[in-house]
Amino acid sequence: MARKKIIAGNWKMNKTPSEAVELAKTLIPLVADADVDVVFCVPAIDIVPVVETVQGTNIHVGGENLYFEDKGAYTGEISADMLLDAGAEYVIMGHSERRGYFHETDEDINRKLKKALEKGLKPIVCCGESLAQREQGICFDWIRMQIKIAFQGVSAEDAKKVVIAYEPIWAIGTGKTATADQAEEVCKAIRDVIGEIYDTDTAEAIRIQYGGSMNAGNCRELLAKPDIDGGLIGGASLKPDFGKIVNYDK
Ligand code: PEP
Repeated sequence: MARKKIIAGNWKMNKTPSEAVELAKTLIPLVADADVDVVFCVPAIDIVPVVETVQGTNIHVGGENLYFEDKGAYTGEISADMLLDAGAEYVIMGHSERRGYFHETDEDINRKLKKALEKGLKPIVCCGESLAQREQGICFDWIRMQIKIAFQGVSAEDAKKVVIAYEPIWAIGTGKTATADQAEEVCKAIRDVIGEIYDTDTAEAIRIQYGGSMNAGNCRELLAKPDIDGGLIGGASLKPDFGKIVNYDK
């Protein structure tokens, strides 16, 4: 069965609740005709107002992070139940900004992935190499390791529900996009490692996004690649450009 493409915006720490509502209102008509799954991943405090604003539209809402414990003394963290109760369906985990600035490890991401799946959230698991790792020739080893640790203890049935976002760190927010061939090469390698961990059926079912300076100008070429099933979009998700990306096929 053909995989449905999924284009998700990662709004990062950019919009107050009232600004988030305004942005959602601007984007609603621009994405209404999309043939892809459309997701806005927004700051925790924006989830409730954005969910209310997009009610009845084709837009799904996600969080940008979660903690792997159910509840307790974890000041500042947000649980899977909190995200679900606020109306989020998706959640990003393992973004390179969280790995870098907040010292998240592959083991943390594995625990987050298992918690999200247990609770019924749809996970978007990020992976990606730095420029130094690419230049050292260890890009594929690095990403294989990230994927193997993230999916430890996850069943094949659950793995099929996961979205993986390949985001080369050197392309995030830098304006440097991986070429479509570079992105395809790694997305295919990710599908291969999922096939090794599980089976062909799981590898063919899982959706793999590319993220890293994707915009209205370069999305068509990237999304035409056989192993690229969508995009995780940072900067361009805050602009009307996002509407052009989700309608890349029109
Ligand atoms: C991201 O941070 O997930 C991302 C892809 O950002 P940008 O599109 O701005 O490079």
